[in-house]
Amino acid sequence: MAKSLEIKVAPADLHNEAALRQALIRQGGLAPASVGEVRVVRRSIDARSSRPHFLLRVDVAAPGETFTPEAPYLESLGEVAEAPAVAIIGCGPAGMFAALELIELGLRPIIIERGKDVQERRRSLRAIQQFGEVDPNSNYCFGEGGAGTYSDGKLYTRSLKRGNYQKALQLLVEHGAQPDILIDAHPHIGSNKLPKVVANMRETIVAHGGEVRFGHRVIDLERDAQDLRALVIATENGETYRLSATAYIFATGHSARDIYHLLHRHGVRMEAKPFALGVRIEHPQPLIDEIQYGQREREENLPASSYKLVTQVQERGVFSFCMCPGGLVVPAATAPGEIVVNGMSLSRRDSPYANSGTVVAVEMEDLLPYASHGIFAGLAFQQAVEQAMFVAGDGTQRAPASRLTDFARQKLSHDLPATSYIPGLFPAPLHELLPAGIYTRLQEGVKDFGRKMRGYFTAEANVIGTESRTSSPVRIPRDRSTYQHPELPSLYPCGEGAGYAGGILSAAMDGQNVARAVAASVAAQPSAK
Ligand code: FAD
Repeated sequence: MAKSLEIKVAPADLHNEAALRQALIRQGGLAPASVGEVRVVRRSIDARSSRPHFLLRVDVAAPGETFTPEAPYLESLGEVAEAPAVAIIGCGPAGMFAALELIELGLRPIIIERGKDVQERRRSLRAIQQFGEVDPNSNYCFGEGGAGTYSDGKLYTRSLKRGNYQKALQLLVEHGAQPDILIDAHPHIGSNKLPKVVANMRETIVAHGGEVRFGHRVIDLERDAQDLRALVIATENGETYRLSATAYIFATGHSARDIYHLLHRHGVRMEAKPFALGVRIEHPQPLIDEIQYGQREREENLPASSYKLVTQVQERGVFSFCMCPGGLVVPAATAPGEIVVNGMSLSRRDSPYANSGTVVAVEMEDLLPYASHGIFAGLAFQQAVEQAMFVAGDGTQRAPASRLTDFARQKLSHDLPATSYIPGLFPAPLHELLPAGIYTRLQEGVKDFGRKMRGYFTAEANVIGTESRTSSPVRIPRDRSTYQHPELPSLYPCGEGAGYAGGILSAAMDGQNVARAVAASVAAQPSAK
């Protein structure tokens, strides 16, 4: 019979089994002869005391007993080449996990993706980084794996209860992610590993009879009063074709503005939803380590430290978002003429920089100048800020920036600290470029963060414009139990772009939920019986 115990372990002893057994005996009061096989099932860092340490939850088997490994999910997948087809628009986490789930449920997914596969996509990213050229179909948001591929690869979510979190992690491991993600309290993959994981997932989909069509963009649709009837798709080489399917899962992400406009043109009901906007702030990582761990040079096994900050300013939330310890700031625009930044990291998280989005909840009063855009007022607001940042620059992806202390004092910086942002930064009056309601709250917010985290408010940090794609400003409504659009039952809004997820894992779980809803609906149709 296995016991489960929580123990503290010094960072240097993290991978030392003898030290772990000693800790179980000393801290758990176990008799040495009673400790059989051990396995760590949960791992977190406690940095509250003077010396950071790991907290491990460990299962201990009785001598002679062993733990049985879980059966791989992939073994349960069958062949679906002859099954009813379900079109999935978007090969991000929502679309890919929906596809795997559909296969498990005996349906054939056809993923339509405007971008390129992970290999080809690298070239597009190089063009953005080095020449400031943004391909509207292949960039940090669009392409195989969606916005999650060249990202920070953080896998935690606040919506654990919204789906099968453990299954999603297990599937990532079965496709090549490191098994540590199954036990870490804050699991993370990293952009050097994610492309391979994503490509393996695509191979699974294809091997079981599904399809993934890259360089295919949904440009129109056909509907009648009752339902959606077909998609119109344009290929990279200029051809167009129609695709009819049993169901249509729209998993196009928060940056597919053309899809919102397309749905609107066809009278598909959508609604405005809350979102946030701000800047990305980059500190030297050793400074954050010193604040969080009391160590400028981290001891062995301690990962780059992170932070999470939140405050209220003038009745609105100001908060850090998508923190990337040991990460890089990247240009995440999806069209020429705009500046959008985001953060990513490699699995070792060993860059000398720490960055995080720092954003303010956008409210109706910010959107008043854009009221003529109706439900798209939020989109117009986002776009206006992104374009203002671009216009302030030199026509490349160099981003406007300010030292953090100058930012709060409304001063133009003479020069800027070193940065991880490859296209480069230029000093700019962000206090003038940002909408007043956003700037004044950020101004007070960062000072308050400095009070909460001594050392945070420093001239050595860069404030970079603009962090505008935090979530979708539009929601595509759906029924709570069938996941169908209320007026078009074969349209299944899914993932972040539809307003039901905020991050890789929550999008993945939403994809799984939607796939199950599709399968239930197909099973209930008379022809399926
Ligand atoms: P997306 O991933 O946006 O995928 C949508 C897909 O639809 C895209 O591939 C797009 O090309 C395709 N598409 C759009 N329009 C069309 C069309 N007309 N026809 C065909 N295809 C179309 N989240 C985390 O949880 N952790 C992180 O560490 C993290 N870091 C990030 C770093 C960066 C740089 C970025 C940009 C995002 C990051 N995110 C992170 C957010 C995360 O990537 C998204 O929340 C997640 O990818 C949303 O998944 P999705 O499947 O709903 O949509």
